[in-house]
Amino acid sequence: KTVCVTGASGYIASWIVKFLLERGYTVKASVRDPKDPKKTDHLLKLDGAKERLHLFKANLLEDGSFDAAVDGCDGVFHTASPFFINATNPQAELLDPALKGTLNVLASCSKASSVKRVVVTSSMAAVSYNRRSRTPDVLVDETWYSDPDLCQETKSWYVLSKTLAEEAAWKFTKDKGLDMVTINPAMVIGPLLQPTLNTSAEAIANLVNGSQTYPNLTFGWVNVKDVANAHIQAFEIPSANGRYCMVERVAHYSDIVELLHKLYPSFHLPQKCADDKPFVPIYQVSKEKVKSLGIDYIPIEQSIKETVESLKEKNFIGGGSSN
Ligand code: NDP
Repeated sequence: KTVCVTGASGYIASWIVKFLLERGYTVKASVRDPKDPKKTDHLLKLDGAKERLHLFKANLLEDGSFDAAVDGCDGVFHTASPFFINATNPQAELLDPALKGTLNVLASCSKASSVKRVVVTSSMAAVSYNRRSRTPDVLVDETWYSDPDLCQETKSWYVLSKTLAEEAAWKFTKDKGLDMVTINPAMVIGPLLQPTLNTSAEAIANLVNGSQTYPNLTFGWVNVKDVANAHIQAFEIPSANGRYCMVERVAHYSDIVELLHKLYPSFHLPQKCADDKPFVPIYQVSKEKVKSLGIDYIPIEQSIKETVESLKEKNFIGGGSSN
């Protein structure tokens, strides 16, 4: 079978490509710059790549850019979307590529009669950012939706980009009769295949690299291998449908620091929270639906360990006297 992965050089996508090649698929991989070795070398070295990996140049903001990559594919994994926090021009840097880009990719999918299903990488950012209370007894599940007005008010542009992109994707696929499944992970950690540092792995790198304080924030955390696997299962299992929240554990940054300390007692880790307010509380995220994709989550302790080992190997941490 032939499938397409958009934004193939990215953190999550690289693992999707690796697992697809291992499962025998032919992969049409879109990247912005196929000539940049930093974006493609790690993909071209994967087992099976020589025989079954084909690179395509595509940009989310160019209409029709994905036609060639999608044409003839049975399935499409749409992961490409910018993920960073400090945008100077959120409309151009985050909102347009996420929203217009998703519709652009879906338009290519609806033109290609071969495409049976599209799996879109959405996010818990599109699920849980609303005014409902999130406390230890609250269970967040796939029926939750983030509130675009709240995102605007708090200038949470990345969260808004994922919320609007998913909303538009459901509307488009319903109108066109296209079969779509979304995978909605929270903070994704675990080993990096790509040589560059992505935003979620950077969250761990920052704690280990001499930060004085940790943020007063609580996130769900999940391993990149589970996330990649869930994408493929969502394509392969005919009954897969709708959205799938993916969180192994919800933890405050202080909990992450504690887990890091247990694993690496010699690390100099931040001891103080960045503010004096009460810690943002934890909450629960349902694991029921994702079980039907056969996902048995890798525990957070192992995910943190794998992240740190990978960051060390790639020289994103270490160096200084602290570690
Ligand atoms: P990366 O930054 O590693 O990957 C982002 C990818 O998007 C890159 O391949 C990048 O291409 C591509 N991209 C960005 N802008 C454009 C554009 N204009 N045209 C074409 N491609 C573009 O991040 P992740 O792997 O973490 O993110 C992948 C997906 O997963 C995103 O949709 C993100 O929102 C989602 N997600 C990530 C989470 C996480 O914690 N990591 C959590 C939940 C969801 P290039 O390599 O050329 O820059």
